[in-house]
Amino acid sequence: MAKINSNYNKLKTNYLFSDIARKISEYKLAFPEKEIIRMGIGDVTLPLVQPVVDALVKASTEMGNKATFRGYGDEQGYAFLQEVIKEYYEENCKVRLSTNEIFISDGAKSDIANFTELFSNDNTIIIPDPVYPVYLDSNLMFGRKILFINGNEENGFLPLPDKNTKGDIVYLCSPNNPTGAVYNYAELQTWVEFALNNNMIIFFDSAYEAFVSDKGLPRSIYEIEGANKCAVEFCSLSKTAGFTGTRCGYTIVPEDIIIDDNYSLNKMWLRRQTTKFNGTSYIVQRGAEAVFSKEGIAACKENIKYYMNNAKIIAKTLEESNVWFTGGINSPYIWLKCGMDSWEFFDLLLKKAQIVGTPGSGFGKCGEGFFRLTSFNTRENTVEAMRRFKEFLREL
Ligand code: PLP
Repeated sequence: MAKINSNYNKLKTNYLFSDIARKISEYKLAFPEKEIIRMGIGDVTLPLVQPVVDALVKASTEMGNKATFRGYGDEQGYAFLQEVIKEYYEENCKVRLSTNEIFISDGAKSDIANFTELFSNDNTIIIPDPVYPVYLDSNLMFGRKILFINGNEENGFLPLPDKNTKGDIVYLCSPNNPTGAVYNYAELQTWVEFALNNNMIIFFDSAYEAFVSDKGLPRSIYEIEGANKCAVEFCSLSKTAGFTGTRCGYTIVPEDIIIDDNYSLNKMWLRRQTTKFNGTSYIVQRGAEAVFSKEGIAACKENIKYYMNNAKIIAKTLEESNVWFTGGINSPYIWLKCGMDSWEFFDLLLKKAQIVGTPGSGFGKCGEGFFRLTSFNTRENTVEAMRRFKEFLREL
């Protein structure tokens, strides 16, 4: 008889977004005349930029022509895309990579979840709370032991290691989803030194690096000395370039990471990918290449600027209302202290101001009492939502 992986029983059914959807439908049914504004959107809303669209069209045309048609590509990605990513790292953060260290993916989520396969199931995994839920669930599926490190108001939702931080792999997400908090150089240096001294591996999720505008903040873990010996970096074009539906990301696996004096993570990941992954589509990789062109970078920056101006409007409203929050400056997420049960706040905000956000408790137990707003809605809706929000807080 086929025996199932009973670790799946340990997963909590994630009701967060379905509960939100249900509450919205119930409200709409009861008050059809009220106009709801969604400030909980975790997806981009602006379309792909023109240089990307042009590249996708051109590549699609090539695929329909016998002379330029392409079949299977290299599992780790086309050299044309690896090269421009390599240049992007050099220009943006003075990080030198070899193209062999750059693996093209169909987005960060699958690589983040799949990379754990290279590690034995008896590792202890350190996960910040609150955080992007994929880190926890993908390790629970293997039955691994989890140690949570708490984010809170005192540490600005940027936990650092201490004497109780005992584990083998740690996930860091900066800029963070959901808190929008960003580690500075000194804090990341603390993590890298800790990992090197304790033979730990860092999984660094930099899906929101393009939102960092402050030159005094790191955008890649490899800006920190020694990170090339202990950190794998996962990045995505989803939010950088609106690729949530187009699907492309990249994972950096340094050749310098050798475990037990014998195992090269880079070689193991290549082995894993050549066995289980058949590459991101040629068309999408050409679209991704265009993201890194001069015109592509400029156009994507414009879109990010649009979202970040929304974030500024949200942050200003919270400041004026004396609400404690993180994020909103180098991140599209704003994490505010709601001072009550986060689902109760959700219900009140929907009922009194017709604004939808995301209850913090959905991202971990330390998220209780907090609430996430995002900057991905339109300017008009963001302005109107913040007008209502201010009024709502005044009446609370
Ligand atoms: N990492 C974080 C922190 C995210 O918030 C997301 C998407 O929401 C991802 C990774 C996944 O990105 P992708 O769309 O590339 O799979």
